[in-house]
Amino acid sequence: MRTVLLVEDEVKIVQLARDYLERGGFEVLAASNGETALATFRAHRPDLAVLDLGLPDMDGLDVLRALRRESNTPVIILTARGDESDRLVGLELGADDYMVKPFSPKELVARVRAVLRRTEGYAEAGAAVIHAGELTLDVPRMRLTIDGQGIELTATEFQLLAALARQPGRIFTRAQLLEAVHGVAFESYERAIDTHIKNLRRKIEADPREPRHILTVYGVGYRLAEA
Ligand code: CA
Repeated sequence: MRTVLLVEDEVKIVQLARDYLERGGFEVLAASNGETALATFRAHRPDLAVLDLGLPDMDGLDVLRALRRESNTPVIILTARGDESDRLVGLELGADDYMVKPFSPKELVARVRAVLRRTEGYAEAGAAVIHAGELTLDVPRMRLTIDGQGIELTATEFQLLAALARQPGRIFTRAQLLEAVHGVAFESYERAIDTHIKNLRRKIEADPREPRHILTVYGVGYRLAEA
């Protein structure tokens, strides 16, 4: 049975989320503040953490920083509507997904499952060939085929697509995509990612105005559609 650490100070949300997660087959550990969260995390090493950013004793982003210093355990952050900068910083700090409050507990369970599926898939992959739906990426040869048909990409476009395709469904900020391509993020170049994405879509989407593969996450970045 897999264990989810639920870090949240609102009792009602904890009860509801715990209820749904347990019915979904997860063991749930709850912590109502940052200090308890870190202690519980270190003692039990859960498979995933759901982390509210608005905690009574410390900034949830500091909890996330601390978690990331010691593990790659997947983290889903919970943020209030409108806290777009928190959401962005959370993803930059290595959160795997986010949910905006109020959220449906059913969707939380679905997201927990999806994040576990893709992070576990990623662990097995340093794969030379990446399959994502209709897309097949031959990494050493930088070759893309869609439904068996070869498509020419620049090295940057290929690296960008490979980063997205290694973790379908994961939301990447522009800075993270830049880092995937160049090994380093320069904020002033983030908009360049939009141009590369536009070019990629022109090559791989049947209708670039209605993309089915590379999806825009408004205000954040991009993700590859899950097959
Ligand atoms: Ca809170």
